[in-house]
Amino acid sequence: MSNARSHELFINGKWRAGGSRPTLPVINPATEKVFASVTSATVSDLDEALASAERARKAWSSRPAKERGEILVAAARILATKIESAARDLTAEQGKTIPEATGEYTRAVETLEWNGRHAEELSAPIPMGPNRMIVPEPLGVVAAFTPWNYPAVLIARKLAPALAAGCPVILKGAEETPSVAVHIVESLRQAGIPDGVVNLVFGVPVHISRYLLSSPIVKVLTFTGSTAVGKQLAALAANNLQRCILELGGHSPVIVCEDADLPKAIQAISEYKFECAGQSCNAPSRILVARPLYDEFLSRMTEAVRKIRIGLPDDAATDMGPMANARRIEAMQRLTKDAVERGARIETGGACLDRPGFYWPPTILTAVPKDARVLHEEPFGPILTVAPFEGIEEAIEEANATDYGLAAYLFTGAADAQQMMINGLSAGAVSVNYLKGVSADAPYGGVKQSGYGYEGGEQGVRSFQILKMVNGLGSFG
Ligand code: NAD
Repeated sequence: MSNARSHELFINGKWRAGGSRPTLPVINPATEKVFASVTSATVSDLDEALASAERARKAWSSRPAKERGEILVAAARILATKIESAARDLTAEQGKTIPEATGEYTRAVETLEWNGRHAEELSAPIPMGPNRMIVPEPLGVVAAFTPWNYPAVLIARKLAPALAAGCPVILKGAEETPSVAVHIVESLRQAGIPDGVVNLVFGVPVHISRYLLSSPIVKVLTFTGSTAVGKQLAALAANNLQRCILELGGHSPVIVCEDADLPKAIQAISEYKFECAGQSCNAPSRILVARPLYDEFLSRMTEAVRKIRIGLPDDAATDMGPMANARRIEAMQRLTKDAVERGARIETGGACLDRPGFYWPPTILTAVPKDARVLHEEPFGPILTVAPFEGIEEAIEEANATDYGLAAYLFTGAADAQQMMINGLSAGAVSVNYLKGVSADAPYGGVKQSGYGYEGGEQGVRSFQILKMVNGLGSFG
């Protein structure tokens, strides 16, 4: 297995590094110090990954789905035994706290296990009456590109359903958080995944994606990241008509109605929003509050946010660690400055902390003009805007006033208001009276500029299948 400080590639069943391969630095965001490196794949590594995935395809796709599932379940068990040390590595690379990293790995284990347990059932023919059926077949080699914010869960949500469906995968892990991909791939190796079925590469993202997607061997592109990059990859995939699953950005509203349980709403928002320093595609970013509740909400929300303890992510007293990289700090500065220049008010936070590391405090902006960039660009950080609304129609209109459509949240006990908002909100997921993210057993996907396709649950596996329609069964007898 690869050395803890120098992460390797995994191609055709072997860990690889050295030779003429360049390396990239891995930076601890709490200290800004380089503490590890990751091997960059050469063109011949990518060629070999493609060839070995293609060679492994037939045997893997025709292996009984039950056995594919058993390997996933075994890998889940192996990964579960490593969570404590793997979570520490993730914290050092990404800046999320140890409980956050541990929780994330636990969800990655659940995801491997869920897909393993359902592999057989989701690969079985689906009867369509007496002489018709659908035969699910694996689509073929998958190129998967995963980001650094929730690297464990997002790798698991791509690898596990693809493998359950019978597809080999070439995974490009995030260069910022390489240990995560290494731990998960090594767990699969130990569980007996055949050579070539899983390949792991790192490198300059644009070079790797361009090279892999130009190959007709690749049949599916699955990507989580920004809308801008998702569009570039979809354009590349168009040349070979590769199927695309794109989980892109979000700018999630929370609608707090007049009858909302205020303490519950504030607690849920402050806990969920600032997890992973707000770097989550479905973190709430715009809070809309019924006018009569607005002043009380704002003062209680500001008070709650000020209590969030910021510190080193491996310190048990820390609630929120640093942001993952300097690019996020620059984005927070740019969005805050733009909003303030247009007349917004900073209720709390609003400037990076004067200490080593990429630290930006929880920030609340009010009186934000509609044309401010923070209301249209995904903040992807610990910034919240808060604004009042007069009626539910206005709340829905404001909630839908971005190009994104990933998650939306609402707090009200009134069934008719809930229904109106569930119907009216342009979002892939709506949570009522609590904030919820992805789970292994349910589909999740965005609308509008948040992407297309689904990850999770049955649909997550179907994303990697051809549904072959077979008509006229038995008509020869
Ligand atoms: P980015 O768009 O450059 O990178 C995001 C991720 O995509 C990274 O993991 C990166 O390695 C990968 N990537 C970038 N270009 C690629 C390419 N050409 N081919 C393949 N992979 C590529 O931005 P960033 O500064 O790393 O992250 C910030 C932005 O990314 C945020 O504003 C947010 O919108 C988005 N993001 C979204 C998610 C999500 O969960 N939807 C996760 C991470 C980042």
